[in-house]
Amino acid sequence: MAQIELVGVEKSYGRPKRGHEARKAVSDLSYVIEDGHFVSLLGPSGCGKTTTLNMIAGLEDISGGEILIDGRRVDDLDPDKRDLAFVFQDYALYPHMSVYENIAFGLRMRKVAKDEIDRRVRDAARRLDIAHVLDVKPKSLSGGQRQRVALARAIARRPAVFLFDEPLSNLDALLRDQTRSELKVLHRELGATSVYVTHDQEEAMTLSDRIAVMSRGRLEQYGSPYEVYHEPATEFVASFVGKPRMNLFTAKRGERGRHVLPGTAFGVESGALPEEIRVGLRPEECDLRRPLAGEQPHGTVVAVEPLGNVSDVHLTMGDVEFLVRVPGFGSYGVGDAVVVDLTRARLHCFDPETGRRLA
Ligand code: ATP
Repeated sequence: MAQIELVGVEKSYGRPKRGHEARKAVSDLSYVIEDGHFVSLLGPSGCGKTTTLNMIAGLEDISGGEILIDGRRVDDLDPDKRDLAFVFQDYALYPHMSVYENIAFGLRMRKVAKDEIDRRVRDAARRLDIAHVLDVKPKSLSGGQRQRVALARAIARRPAVFLFDEPLSNLDALLRDQTRSELKVLHRELGATSVYVTHDQEEAMTLSDRIAVMSRGRLEQYGSPYEVYHEPATEFVASFVGKPRMNLFTAKRGERGRHVLPGTAFGVESGALPEEIRVGLRPEECDLRRPLAGEQPHGTVVAVEPLGNVSDVHLTMGDVEFLVRVPGFGSYGVGDAVVVDLTRARLHCFDPETGRRLA
């Protein structure tokens, strides 16, 4: 059992200079990671993911706030008193030890009985399909196998919490997808609370019960994959989550109580919206068609990128560029005049000042 709670957690590096606060790597982080949940910390490089994970692990001190595990304050406890296992990007295996010894090492340090160690090492190796390499040294293993040894070592510890720092980023694309699926199965089997740092939204979306989206040291949104995709709390989340990237424009209050997108026929009911807003539309929720006789087209195709199962069609519409993802290879070519059908599209509106969701 392990529920992790962050309450106003902060981290500053360096000393404050006179008249200036120390630079904050993370600030004001407050959320609860429920027992048994898989939670990803997602965001671009430098947003504070690793710093947050290291503070949970106890590898970094916190500069403010509290971290609790099952209601008990842990931020002044040593890492080895927190019942956590860490899986790093670079695997951190001991090169002079066999795979077996690498997996067993942490258990030996904790004075686990020998036959219990043997049971746990073999169980972890079986789960990760490395039972046949227990006697070899890490240097003769592939990158994928090394990563499995690192995972097996963490599993054998049977910790209350797993912490992962970009564990798949050194694997090639195919192996990464495969290991990602295996991680998901493993989490379902073990059910241990897991915190997973990644800048890869696909990993975060596919693995997580909740995603903490971070930008510049702050939490932008803490929600389920469904929520961060369908109800992004900020423009940052809207543009960071989803592939291809969401179309985003500035729209101004126009005539007849509507906000209109510049140079286009699109509009949003103004209601109580501010004078100017940011509007987002996902490329995969828009449809394209050719204009009917006498119908004014919305835009012109400027590029088509076929991806096999779908194609990305780039348009210009008045002053703006717009992307629509169509099924298959589509039937559009550069220069075609097209109409964008928004029947399936959900409009996301954001405050241009704060970036926060309006509707
Ligand atoms: P990445 O994906 O590149 O690892 P990240 O989201 O994990 O990025 P962090 O490594 O947590 O980001 O870094 C957050 C901020 O804190 C960055 O601006 C970084 O430069 C700064 N930082 C991290 N470690 C230190 C340190 N030891 N001393 C000073 N600044 C640091």
